[in-house]
This record gives sequence, C-alpha cells and structure tokens, in this order.
Amino acid sequence: LHMDINHFRWINESFGQDAGSQLLCDIATRLEQQLIPQLSLPLARLGSDEFVAAFADIDSTGLARQARDLQRSMLEPFEVFDQQVFVSMNLGGALFPQHAATAEGLLKVVELALHRGKGRSPGEYRLYQPSTTHLPAHQMIALERDLHRALNEDGLRLMLQPIVTADSIPGGRVTLSGVETLVRIEHPEHGVLSPDTFIPVAEASGLILPLGAWVMEQGLAWLAAATRQGLDTLTLSFNVSAREIHAGGLVERLAEGLARHALAPHRIILEVTENLMLERDEVVLETFNALRSLGCRLAIDDFGTGFSSMSYLQHLPFDIVKIDRCFVSELHTEPRQAALVAAMIEMGHALGLSVTVEGIELNEQARCCLDNGADHLQGYYFCRPVPAQEALARFITL
Ligand code: C2E
Ligand code: CA
Ligand code: CA
Ligand code: CA
Repeated sequence: LHMDINHFRWINESFGQDAGSQLLCDIATRLEQQLIPQLSLPLARLGSDEFVAAFADIDSTGLARQARDLQRSMLEPFEVFDQQVFVSMNLGGALFPQHAATAEGLLKVVELALHRGKGRSPGEYRLYQPSTTHLPAHQMIALERDLHRALNEDGLRLMLQPIVTADSIPGGRVTLSGVETLVRIEHPEHGVLSPDTFIPVAEASGLILPLGAWVMEQGLAWLAAATRQGLDTLTLSFNVSAREIHAGGLVERLAEGLARHALAPHRIILEVTENLMLERDEVVLETFNALRSLGCRLAIDDFGTGFSSMSYLQHLPFDIVKIDRCFVSELHTEPRQAALVAAMIEMGHALGLSVTVEGIELNEQARCCLDNGADHLQGYYFCRPVPAQEALARFITL
C-alpha cells in the first residue's frame, strides 16, 4: 500500500516546517498503531508526505480492507499548535507477484495506482489495474461480472466535469458553460474502477447499453435539478459508444428522457469517438441526423488521435470538435504542439464548428488555447471530475 497525504504542503505553509514535521510523526504513529499486527516490514516513509506499507499473504480483499481501516484511522483530527487539523490521504495498492515480479516493479506500479486515483478523485483507494486492451479471458470475465454487479447493486457512480469559457488566463473571468458525464464503478474490493478499464468490456459484452441508459437518466435528472437552481443554460455532454448507436433506440430514449425532465434538447451534446465506426455507415448517419433534428448537438471526441478524424469530419454532421488531451501536455513548451493545436482550432472554425480543448492542466496551456481562439476549455486546471451529488453545490459558486 502506498499512501500519500493530501494538502500537506498547505499545512507546512500555514503552520510552518516544525509543525509540519510534528504532524507527520503523529500521522506515522497513528498509521503504525493501526498496522502493527499485520505489518511484515516497518512502515517506510517516502519523500515528504508519503508512506509505504508491505503485508505478507494478503489478497485484494484484504488490501482493500487495510486501505479502508487506514483511512478510517485518519477521521479523528490531529493537533497542530492547539488547533485541530483533519488529514486525508490517497492510497494505491498492488499485489506481488500478480502486478509485478520484483520489489522495484511493485513500488513502481503501486505508485501508479496511487496517482491514477489522485488524478481523478482525492481521498480514494485504488488497486493497480493493468491495461485492459489485451486482457486475458479470465480477467474479461471478472470485469464483466463486476459490471453486472455494479449495474444491479447500485455500484455505478456518476462524475461531472465542467467545460468552461474564459476571457483571459490567468486572472480573467471563467464561466461554466457545461458539464461532461463520466462514469465509474465503485468496486467492493478494488476501490474505484476507471472507465478506461471497463468501458471496452462493457462495449464487448453489450452491457454498455444498460450502462449508457443509466448514465443518461442520472445525467438528465441532474441537469433538471441544476436548472431548478438557476443553471438554466448549462449544457450536458454524454459519451456515446458506437455500440449504443448501432443498437438503435438511443434517439427515442433521449427524447423521452428530455420530455420527462422538461429539458430543452439544445442543452444536450453527444460526444462520439471514431473508433469502431465507419464514417459511411448508414445507421450512424441516420442516428446523427435524427439527433440533430431533435435539437441536440454532436461532438467528435478525442479529435486527432484516430486514423480517420478528417474523413469523419467530412462525412458526418458534427457541431463541436474536442481536441484530444494528448496534444495539450507539452503545448506551452513545444512549438510543434502549439502549431498543431492552432491549426486544429483554425480548421474547426473554418468548418463552422465550435472547438473545445480538453486536458488543460496548467495556466500556460489554457492561455495558449485561448490565444489561438479555442471556444471552450476543460481540464484539471479548472476542475477535476466531481461526484454528481456534490456537483451542484460546487458549480453554483464556480
Ligand atoms: P474522454 O471522453 O476523453 O473523457 C475525458 C477524460 O479525461 C476523463 O477520464 C477525465 O477525467 C480526464 N481528464 C479531464 N481533465 C483532465 C486533465 O486535465 N488531465 C488529464 N490527464 N485527464 C483529464 P475518465 O473519466 O477516466 O474517462 C475516460 C474515458 O472513458 C472517457 O474519455 C470516455 O471515452 C470514457 N467514458 C467515460 N464515461 C463514459 C460513459 O458513460 N459512456 C461511455 N461510452 N464512455 C465513457
Ligand atoms: Ca501529498
Ligand atoms: Ca468525452
Ligand atoms: Ca476526449
């Protein structure tokens, strides 16, 4: 288990170094007290505010239980200069030898697991999940079972991430213009599963249909609630898989949901990637036309990463281009990346499309996109995905 204390830098800055060191000792003591009977090696401290614990003869269930107990042990406040301070942490877990065959490898993957969780939602535990693109059959079957369980036993979680407009960065006014729905599975043993893990399995098994229906209903209900709170121009973006389009019934289901929640269709955006779809596919074209007749808008997601983004744009009636986050990472330091993004924005505009850039993590990246005319921005710099239940309270003040 790899543990990383959240906001420790803030404690150091507000209370000073000495208080920080004292607090870390207190945290370590409490963690050790929680762990002593099970530890097979002493608790190790890494960097300034991270800890690693190793256990013998433990499985994923046991590890998840440890993670939960450790998080619970943090619920009581710590005393810093007579003030109470609450501490939370993110945890990553990995198993030997399933996830890595050496101690070094294990340390690497457990850190990966930690940071995947940290990147998405603070205060979470995640077991390391190997990439699923070429999963062995037994793991596919296990994931399919997880999906079934999540669907039947209230194990799906809806997250919402803001999409914003800005007049200048930093310092300018940032306005919330919409939210994108992103789904998670809350797994009883493995913590939170990321959609990158289970969406491919959901697509292959057909479970993407009930899953997509669940996300749509939750999303529309949320938008209706947001509308009642005065956020009545906010848009809602859904990710739609090719399989959902080919299965039929998507347009009818959306129209029914919109009517039932008394929502205007123009507030809905459907994001589709080109994978698995053929641009000359009649069903896709008909569905797209029906969605647009209904009044919804269509976005091409992950633009620039597939083989046929251009031909896709040529043949299908999109309204929005979402430039993939892989073009953003070095945007502020790599002139070639900046030139590519500028050209993609210009091309989108030349085709009469609105351009969104996703994956913005730094103000330099945001500024560069704005300078090049991007219409909407999305990324951790503005806001990470937020659990739907917390989103209204958060976004109303954004
Ligand atoms: P996507 O549609 O490209 O969604 C954006 C992903 O980028 C999300 O990951 C989001 O958390 C992440 N992200 C947002 N801002 C940043 C940033 O600044 N930096 C970085 N590094 N990442 C950022 P997530 O939630 O793990 O979703 C992964 C993919 O899973 C999505 O990619 C989407 O294709 C798919 N997906 C998620 N929910 C659904 C769903 O309900 N249905 C379908 N069919 N696919 C979904
Ligand atoms: Ca930290
Ligand atoms: Ca998307
Ligand atoms: Ca994307």
